[in-house]
Amino acid sequence: MGSLIIENADLFTGVDGEVISNGSVWVSEGFVRFAGPKDDMPSDVENVERFDASGKFVMPGMTESHVHLSYNNAHPQQLNSQPLPTAMLDAVDNARVLLGSGFTSAISFGSAQGLDIPLRDAINSGRIPGPRLAASDRDLGSTGSNADGTFGGDNSKKIIADGPWAVRKAVRSLAKRRCDIVKIFLDGEALSEFAPPGVLTYSDEEVAAAVEEAHIRGMRVVSHSRSAAAVKQAVRHGVDIIGHANYLDDEAVAMLEAKREHVFVGPGIAWEIALLDRGSELGLPRDAMEQRGYQREIDETISAVKRLRESKVRVLIGGDYGLNITPHGTNSKDLEYFVDLFGMSTTEALLCATRDGGAAADPSGMVGTLEEGKFADLVVVEGNPIEDIRILQDHSRIVGVMKDGVMHCALMQRNPYIAPSEMGS
Ligand SMILES: [Zn+2]
Repeated sequence: MGSLIIENADLFTGVDGEVISNGSVWVSEGFVRFAGPKDDMPSDVENVERFDASGKFVMPGMTESHVHLSYNNAHPQQLNSQPLPTAMLDAVDNARVLLGSGFTSAISFGSAQGLDIPLRDAINSGRIPGPRLAASDRDLGSTGSNADGTFGGDNSKKIIADGPWAVRKAVRSLAKRRCDIVKIFLDGEALSEFAPPGVLTYSDEEVAAAVEEAHIRGMRVVSHSRSAAAVKQAVRHGVDIIGHANYLDDEAVAMLEAKREHVFVGPGIAWEIALLDRGSELGLPRDAMEQRGYQREIDETISAVKRLRESKVRVLIGGDYGLNITPHGTNSKDLEYFVDLFGMSTTEALLCATRDGGAAADPSGMVGTLEEGKFADLVVVEGNPIEDIRILQDHSRIVGVMKDGVMHCALMQRNPYIAPSEMGS
């Protein structure tokens, strides 16, 4: 692994919102040695390749905070239904596409087929390209929870455990499989017949057991928590990353604010928006989706995110990409939602995707910003996302994605499941 200087770039280090014109990044042996104004670059650098990034924007690699790499770009009701060998191929493909789209880190929110662990290991050993993956396994939920209602009752695709000791045993089994992440369902889904948002599907004792056992064994816990009650339960017991958090009350916001150094929230809004806007293409007409509460859920999420920003709680991009209407590789669409829907500046959205996502992906602080000593994970973009955040969705503008100091080429973004007309749209 050699030494490379990327120079003459518009450089966004992700440390703050500043863009340094005429910026340089020096990368060596997989680490950032310097990132800043060209004039401050150490002058004694020898045996180094140079890449002229004139007119290009260089930024830290992004984090997809809620990924399901085996989702097969299918109809929402047919996700995870492919046979296992195909699911593995899908996951390998999707990992490559995600990396090629500028995401150098990803946090798994569940792998129904249990593919994350071998996938992560293959990525880490360099056999296949993909983001740094915080791997999970099958979802953990109680009898009658949202996990219980999924996958056509196929118990091999989730773990149903009731009672603190059963929950502990389940978490221990995930540790034995070498998971990084435990995904737990604390409440349900508007689509669910028996576990709607707001009905807690685990008792406090069970959640406490899950989180304590996971933390003892070096794993982190991510939760599906749509309602204020489920968010509060997650915060109370030390869940690390809270998914959805659509409905918040004053107490939930105050609790998140008090723990904001330790907890992250990922609204995962793409699913709701896609089902409302494009559900009719799938036989799920807009009025039916509205009746099921999706418009209300979006409206509530907008006000929830507003309050989280006021309280300086870190909000992450991403969530549940991999439907036919939200294929893998379109994950940067979330930045546009953060700007248009949540009212963020493009800079703030970019910091959510880089600095804050990186802090969630790697608690040891090695990713998310371009600073001396961090992993050399970065994206070279044609054009300036601060001026137009949507250009990150245009794969033809992703000139290169570097992970661990290795530059991957732009062909990485091609996914056989995405029609050319859909790419970047
Ligand atoms: Zn999910």
